[in-house]
Amino acid sequence: MVETALCLADGVQASTGCTPGHRSLRIEDFGKLAVCLARSDTKVGVRIILKRAPSQLVDDWMMRKLGHEEEKELTKELLHLEDVVFRIEEVTVEQFSEFDEGKIIKCEECGELFLESKAVRKQGKAVCKACSGLRYYTPCRVSLTEGVNPRRDLK
Ligand SMILES: [Zn+2]
Repeated sequence: MVETALCLADGVQASTGCTPGHRSLRIEDFGKLAVCLARSDTKVGVRIILKRAPSQLVDDWMMRKLGHEEEKELTKELLHLEDVVFRIEEVTVEQFSEFDEGKIIKCEECGELFLESKAVRKQGKAVCKACSGLRYYTPCRVSLTEGVNPRRDLK
């Protein structure tokens, strides 16, 4: 588990081989530079968080975007941090999410296919999260693969 959706998540993925697609990497975006490594069978693990910045550079890194030269210096410093700057605790974690092998259904509003377990009831219809009002995007125009050809229409 990684407690930020920022760069730490990429580092954990690269160094452990765990991925969201395999359900071996979970991002719980608490906005913290913390990571928890746990066994999937025993649910026992270790949670690690930087408890204090060991230098002004590390403090700056956590508070603002660094320049290229500062990042080079930071990398050297991070590789030599001592254990005392971290809080390391044994933890047990909740049940790992399993692959959802449920039924695929068609949204009764937009017609897109999705997992039935993700369905939301809206006026008696089984609709996808987007059609339930939780859409994270706003369509700009008609589908680019159906109907209107935006390039042709611009002429
Ligand atoms: Zn829908």
